[in-house]
Amino acid sequence: MNKYPVKDASPVIIMKLVIFGPPSAGKGTQAQKLSKKYGIPQVATGDLLREHVAKKTQIGIKVKSYLDSGRLGPDELIVQMIGERVSRPDCINGYLLDGFPRTIGQAQELEKMTDVDLVLNIVVDFEALAERAVGRRSCPKCAAVYHIEFNTPKVQGICDKCGSKLIQRDDDKEETVRNRFRVFKEQTAPLIEYYRKKGKILDIDGSGGIDAVFGRLVAAIETIRT
Ligand SMILES: [Zn+2]
Repeated sequence: MNKYPVKDASPVIIMKLVIFGPPSAGKGTQAQKLSKKYGIPQVATGDLLREHVAKKTQIGIKVKSYLDSGRLGPDELIVQMIGERVSRPDCINGYLLDGFPRTIGQAQELEKMTDVDLVLNIVVDFEALAERAVGRRSCPKCAAVYHIEFNTPKVQGICDKCGSKLIQRDDDKEETVRNRFRVFKEQTAPLIEYYRKKGKILDIDGSGGIDAVFGRLVAAIETIRT
């Protein structure tokens, strides 16, 4: 955590955060909310990759061939892309990395670039995650999302907004959720270990609603701001 005085102003706190969490655990939503609350951009690897590809930058052209084959690209390329992103002016007070680092190699490269202040690790057990995902119903027309238990539409199986018949997306089927969860666990376990050894990890209980989890994230961040 760097604190430096700005003329005639209270000290600015620079926060460089990383967020980890299993797929379908609402990590993206939490990252957006944190970004808004603390005024630091959410640097999401997936969005950034799409941006580079769309703008046909040098990185984008290289990355596209990997994306086309369903892979993420080599660490070197990803690190270069993140390095460029966090040097933009909007990152002057810090940033929240979402989807990066994904490998130990990337974490080591990141460390050469900068010191991360805190890694927020959203922990959700598979059963809770599966319950949430498997009960999700989506509108194929307007993309509204419901849940058979926690967020029911007014008429069962029908979209409140446009009247379409709701579906369960393949992404939300138990088998898919289970596979993605397993892959996530395998990929992040070494990273979590890496940051735990450095004393940078804070485990966040990811159970309950969006607001409950957000409250815990904010409480965790406040511990390093004081
Ligand atoms: Zn709809």
